[in-house]
Amino acid sequence: PSAAQLAHAQSLFAVTPDFPEPGVLFQDISPVLADPTALRTIAEGLVAPFDGTFDMVAGIEARGFTLAGMIAALTGTGFMPIRKAGKLPAPAGRVEYTLEYGTAVIEAPDVLKPEHRVLIVDDVLATGGTLAATRELIGQLDCRVAGAAVVLEIEALGGRRLCGEVHALFTS
Ligand code: AMP
Repeated sequence: PSAAQLAHAQSLFAVTPDFPEPGVLFQDISPVLADPTALRTIAEGLVAPFDGTFDMVAGIEARGFTLAGMIAALTGTGFMPIRKAGKLPAPAGRVEYTLEYGTAVIEAPDVLKPEHRVLIVDDVLATGGTLAATRELIGQLDCRVAGAAVVLEIEALGGRRLCGEVHALFTS
């Protein structure tokens, strides 16, 4: 995508202070997804550094589902959901990780084969905990992570330290 296309997409994020709790600056990607040009821009921008290096796209619940499904359809690869706890009847893998307050659990369906190279996709990188846990989950299933891509990285939270290399289309 061109610089102008990227700037257009980034300008559409809806930013809300103190949601869902005080102190959080919520970055809602909904208006970006609703704009046909911006939607294509972010799909193409997310995949650009990884084209040809993966055959499965893992989308993190919930907004990562949309992005990952689009990328899979664009590139002729498969899609898998990384789900929050309790949504899958028979998860193939499970990782518990620490949040600022308490813990969270993610689970994967039984769809990965050892030869799969997995691209992980999400909308926002904040503390990096979810992405780090997703890497661990895919490793637990004996698959290789081809890379990770997010639309927006909130740099001040230092998520990269926790989750390793990630392609961020935008930073804030
Ligand atoms: P983290 O594990 O802290 O990197 O959080 C990442 C997950 O939480 C992603 O799936 C995001 O969708 C969501 N998230 C965290 N912080 C924000 C924020 N400020 N705005 C929008 N989504 C967020």
